[in-house]
Amino acid sequence: NTSHASNFIKDIMTEDLKSGKHKEIITRFPPEPNGYLHIGHAKSIVINFGLADEFNGKTNLRFDDTNPLKEDVEFVNSIKEDVEWLGFEWDDLRFASNYFDQMYEHAVSLIKKGLAYVDDLSADEIREYRGTLTEPGKESPYRNRSAEESLSLFEQMKNGEFQNGEKVLRAKIDMSSPNINLRDPVIYRISHTTHHNTGDKWCIYPMYSFAHPLEDAIEGVTHSICTLEFEDQRPLYNWVIENCETEAKPQQYEFARLNLTNTVLSKRKLKQLVDEKYVDGWDDPRMPTISGLRRRGFTPEAIREFCKELGVHKGSGVVDVQMLDHFTREDLKLKAPRTMAVLKPLKVVITNYPEGQVEMLDAEINPEVPEMGTRQIPFSREIYIEQDDFMEDPPKKYFRLFPGNEVRLKHAYFIKCEEVIKDEEGNVVELRCTYDQETKSGTGFTGRKVKGTLHWVEATQAVPAEFRLYNPLVLDSEEGQATESFLDQVNPNSIDIINGFVEPNMKDAKAQDKFQFFRHGYFNVDPKHTTSDNLVFNLVVSLKSSFKL
Ligand code: ATP
Ligand code: MG
Ligand code: MG
Repeated sequence: NTSHASNFIKDIMTEDLKSGKHKEIITRFPPEPNGYLHIGHAKSIVINFGLADEFNGKTNLRFDDTNPLKEDVEFVNSIKEDVEWLGFEWDDLRFASNYFDQMYEHAVSLIKKGLAYVDDLSADEIREYRGTLTEPGKESPYRNRSAEESLSLFEQMKNGEFQNGEKVLRAKIDMSSPNINLRDPVIYRISHTTHHNTGDKWCIYPMYSFAHPLEDAIEGVTHSICTLEFEDQRPLYNWVIENCETEAKPQQYEFARLNLTNTVLSKRKLKQLVDEKYVDGWDDPRMPTISGLRRRGFTPEAIREFCKELGVHKGSGVVDVQMLDHFTREDLKLKAPRTMAVLKPLKVVITNYPEGQVEMLDAEINPEVPEMGTRQIPFSREIYIEQDDFMEDPPKKYFRLFPGNEVRLKHAYFIKCEEVIKDEEGNVVELRCTYDQETKSGTGFTGRKVKGTLHWVEATQAVPAEFRLYNPLVLDSEEGQATESFLDQVNPNSIDIINGFVEPNMKDAKAQDKFQFFRHGYFNVDPKHTTSDNLVFNLVVSLKSSFKL
């Protein structure tokens, strides 16, 4: 299923194969294991794996684990699970930390060539010396120390003879470059931190901008695809490749990152929502993480189609989150069995239906997919309908139930409202209705027509269930997307938990099973909260939307 959305990187790859520049396309998806993947990462995954697939190339899953402070195996494991769940198979599983020896050797060779030096300035001083966009930087007094001295200091750094921050290794490039990234960037720092993979072997770690091009080169990556905020780093990427004289010559290409309405897409911010207990974990169904989307009930197929439709562009913009809902409906429409659920029950007694009698009715499972067959649902003197499907004093054009009105019960009979029962406070607690045996569904009754069709469940066999309805977790402000102060924009009403009933045959529903509840929407059986005697359903998407592609 190939999308027609434009993709400038694909054009470059086609050209590179045609010209013989590359024999094979090799890409990588390089997450830092410092959080769970989110839907923005899905875009990157679909681009990297999707492009390599199209050219019969390869894609590595590479953990960019050069910052031990924030990284953890919990994140490594969740990322692997999420990539697989999205439907992708990596060729090699790699860890940047497995290349630390090679990176160290490259750093040593830069020092020997006079292209890197150990600097004693503090982080603050380095920042101060760096200059600004309009002002050139100032050279460090340590810039011209001899290669021998830097070599020996670098080795001492490695051997743990200095404290964090006491010294760094910097590339010697150009302190007056208009590109600030080229003003002698730091390429190694001291961090006495245990690493999730290399343990305590290292107390110096390479910086991302030095490590990343080397990781790509070591793996023979041909097209290193990243998001636009790295555009200004490309000259440094190329400088590293050139001066480290790597055999492979990967090239960096940038695309616009995904931004979604009413959605925060930053691991750091998502982690804050988890740590400060705004949500009940990375996989909370309100989270835009892959694990949250999975638990909510979104499907890998829908997420992939959504990402393909986004295409690969340089122009950034904010995508309507309802576009994902659209692809989800498209995917579930033909897959999800249809069934009836009453979210806010109102008891209806059918006074002329024989007491104690239960009949079984035939109901199609999905009218758009007849092969899915039929199910049997019970009908009796007592049923539940939706509270919202009754009004004592309705406006014009209200076609649902009101005193004296007749409606159709889906798969069953016409019923007519005869009497309204209220409690002492005047709340409607029960309806008394009559049914007409001749109107039975499937008999071809044409005697008269009614305008409303309601869903319902038989009361004595109905299975109690909990329904969790969701609203956006973070709301955009009038000015647009949530910013640093996004916690102010957390929606206080992002979840609504209600209790109702589902059809009796739903008692066997299993975690992650998906259904279309007639007239409501698509629901997923929550894998965390569901127990053998408490079914919990997450609303994935409602049935209707004003969104148009
Ligand atoms: P975050 O800012 O959420 O922490 P990140 O870029 O730091 O994201 P990484 O683990 O480094 O997270 O991301 C792995 C890959 O996914 C990178 O190539 C990155 O560019 C890409 N990526 C991250 N967020 C998005 C996004 N919103 N849209 C598209 N690609 C993204
Ligand atoms: Mg990153
Ligand atoms: Mg990050």
